[in-house]
Amino acid sequence: MEIGLTSFKTAEELSAKKIFSAFQNQTEKRFGQNFLFDEKINRKIVSAAGDLTNRVVMEVGPGPGGITLEILKHPIKKLYVVEFDPRWAKAWRELSNLFDRKLEVVECDALQFDEQQISPQVIISNLPYNISSPLLFKWLRSFDKFEKLVLMFQKEVAERLFAPPNTKSYGKLSIMAQWKSSVEKVFDLEPGSFFPPPKVSSTVVKFIPYPYEEDFQNFDKFSQLLNTAFLHRRKIVTSSLKKFNKNIPMILADFNYPQTVRAEEISVSDYIRLMKLLNA
Ligand code: SAM
Repeated sequence: MEIGLTSFKTAEELSAKKIFSAFQNQTEKRFGQNFLFDEKINRKIVSAAGDLTNRVVMEVGPGPGGITLEILKHPIKKLYVVEFDPRWAKAWRELSNLFDRKLEVVECDALQFDEQQISPQVIISNLPYNISSPLLFKWLRSFDKFEKLVLMFQKEVAERLFAPPNTKSYGKLSIMAQWKSSVEKVFDLEPGSFFPPPKVSSTVVKFIPYPYEEDFQNFDKFSQLLNTAFLHRRKIVTSSLKKFNKNIPMILADFNYPQTVRAEEISVSDYIRLMKLLNA
């Protein structure tokens, strides 16, 4: 396919729509491609990240570049775009000379990429939904390395991220995300805002990671504990957690929870307190 990108001579004349039409408006379902062309929406997403002055920014999946072009309007230090679709990676390599060495393309699967090679301070992305949870889990392991993240999820996943205890959405994802960061809903988007429209609604979420905590970094153990706790979320949690560690029922009683407490009734800070005591 002929890509007519060489006709663009300055960054100012670019738009996601023009770049997309140079691609004959083609999308690839297997890459989770649901694109955003509304400049107002893209501006709102990028401005949710606040001040980007002199920051190293990473975007997963630039696609036709609605968010990419918006980020590049800010006085950033550098933008790395990580793109798995070879056609879009090639397009952005061709366009990168219009951005005065501020834009660099990393062509790979974001799940396999070690982002510490580029040390991004900020991550902004309309995530491909098929990999959004595993990608977030990968980043959560060393979340303190980032200053802020603004990410689009499908609404149902986003609701799990900021859910409080005693709600249907509260679970492992809520606790891991809220352990590592302050999590805030930015806004919802209906399917019609995307092309092609996905089957579900979407939500933009902002994370401000907490600083590194020396005494509590056992990510895998915490993750296993939460898997065990939420395996049967409606059941009494002390009986399932007893198998994980025999002291847990006693510790939860010390925290003033009744023996009948369920996994979804325990707060994030109490799960953290519990883990710290088990690590001691
Ligand atoms: N940022 C564009 C926008 O908002 O219009 C595109 C967002 S689209 C939902 C997801 C993008 O991620 C696509 O460009 C797709 O090719 C790319 N992508 C899909 N899987 C990926 C992966 N594993 N690693 C890196 N990029 C991926």
